[in-house]
Amino acid sequence: MARQLICYPDPVLRAPTKKARSVTPDVKALIEEMIELMRAGNGLGLAAPQVGVPLQVFVADVGEGPFAVVNPKVVRVRGEQIGLEGCLSFPRLYGDVARAKAVTVRGLDSQGKKTSIEAEDLLARVLQHEIDHLKGTLFIDKVDPATVHWLLGYDAETGEPIKQPTTLEDALSALAGGPSRQDARLTTGGRVSPA
Ligand code: ZN
Repeated sequence: MARQLICYPDPVLRAPTKKARSVTPDVKALIEEMIELMRAGNGLGLAAPQVGVPLQVFVADVGEGPFAVVNPKVVRVRGEQIGLEGCLSFPRLYGDVARAKAVTVRGLDSQGKKTSIEAEDLLARVLQHEIDHLKGTLFIDKVDPATVHWLLGYDAETGEPIKQPTTLEDALSALAGGPSRQDARLTTGGRVSPA
């Protein structure tokens, strides 16, 4: 059965996740499906709860090809960065989030082998965002409320993002009113990519 992207306020996004016992054929199939959905949404990352599966698995691709981490654990953090973040489960909503500048993440790769990833900047941001998902933590929990906005599209001439400021409260109540999943795909546009 094809899985779908799950959006806020679905409670599965807050549900506890379990470690995978091993990277079984089922887990590999899940990873493949997640990579497809991440691509369809022009996302940089996707965590299993976002497709309704409470398992400790995420996929990411920051332009160097997709990869998966199963049972990820952050073993080292360094520095700080503040930058724009969105999430495939919060269509069109963006804001600034403070993250560690660099992280080291350990877990299993898509073949079940031990892996260790040393990441900085954007990849470090994506890894932290996805690992947060596996704890039921969402970017709205960490976003600077003063920077929350809708991305309406891009100016045809300048290519600049067209933003509409909003409060987090208003944004969440609008999302709870149910934007269609179609909207998410049409409006993310692929330039400022959600995770
Ligand atoms: Zn996300």
